[in-house]
Amino acid sequence: MKALVLHKPGHASIETIPMPERKNGTVLLRVQMVGLCGSDLNSFRGLNPLVSFPRIPGHEVSATVVQGHGDLQAGTDVALNPYTSCGQCASCRRGRPNACQFNQTLGVQRDGALTEFIAMPREKLYPAKLTRKELCLVEPLTVGFHAAARGHVTAEDTVAIFGCGGVGLGAVAGSNARRARTICIDVDDGKLQLARAAGAAHTINSLTQSVHEGLLELTDGRGPDVVIEAVGTPATFRAAVEEVAFTGRVVYMGYAKEPVSYETRLFVQKELDVLGSRNALPEDFQAVIKLLEAGKFPVNDAVSQIVPLEEGPDAFRSWSEKPSHFKKILISLG
Ligand SMILES: [Zn+2]
Ligand SMILES: [Zn+2]
Repeated sequence: MKALVLHKPGHASIETIPMPERKNGTVLLRVQMVGLCGSDLNSFRGLNPLVSFPRIPGHEVSATVVQGHGDLQAGTDVALNPYTSCGQCASCRRGRPNACQFNQTLGVQRDGALTEFIAMPREKLYPAKLTRKELCLVEPLTVGFHAAARGHVTAEDTVAIFGCGGVGLGAVAGSNARRARTICIDVDDGKLQLARAAGAAHTINSLTQSVHEGLLELTDGRGPDVVIEAVGTPATFRAAVEEVAFTGRVVYMGYAKEPVSYETRLFVQKELDVLGSRNALPEDFQAVIKLLEAGKFPVNDAVSQIVPLEEGPDAFRSWSEKPSHFKKILISLG
């Protein structure tokens, strides 16, 4: 079967590899479509410290069951949960397998889904009445939904979201699904427009407007109840604790690539809850599928193009050269 393989930074090619082994209890799937996200771009560029080469990327997957398995009939379309959990570490024992210490994400620490067939455990599969395009959006949206859950976002809250890329957009939709009022902050007007379509009540372009004044104006001078950070820069990490209201919650999803220095006084003075958010739980998958089945997400606006597998290596190259020219790229294998 064919697969897209990353060999070294900047080099991807289509190759023939053996069919997947089916271990006990795994379900054989025909991969239909795979979405690319920022972490795949980092892998392609050799900037993801968790990736060794050669590696098959891909963890945002739409697939079809090949052979029936228990309650899953052949031909059923599924989204899948690309994480593993060991069952033994502190996170797993606390019922938070999304943050498993020994997690291996598909396409990161182990080979991923940019291949014609994969075998997955039944419990990682989510059947849904969605199109292939929609199924590919399930996983990236769950990450933002999980952040909204971590922040205990409620209808009483105003939530500010820094960064409206794929993951930030999930936080907008997740906060919106919890009926909070959302304010989105980004440097890109196109992304802010998409955030509005996903439910943002207000947007601030931080290149042309003051974030501080904008947030105060929209919150009667108190600041947002919750800030979700989905950028990963020292400036946005700091802005989150500076802008959040007293006794507010700060949720970090962005991975900062360098150490961040803080005015830690604000943690105490504001009595903040500062929370990390990683990957997603099964309930986040269910919530996202419900949202997409209800047609409440601007799926077509969120996807910039669909290319066949053969053009995958070229798509990686163009994306790497001009990252701002692309929203979500989907690779079609069906
Ligand atoms: Zn991703
Ligand atoms: Zn674990």
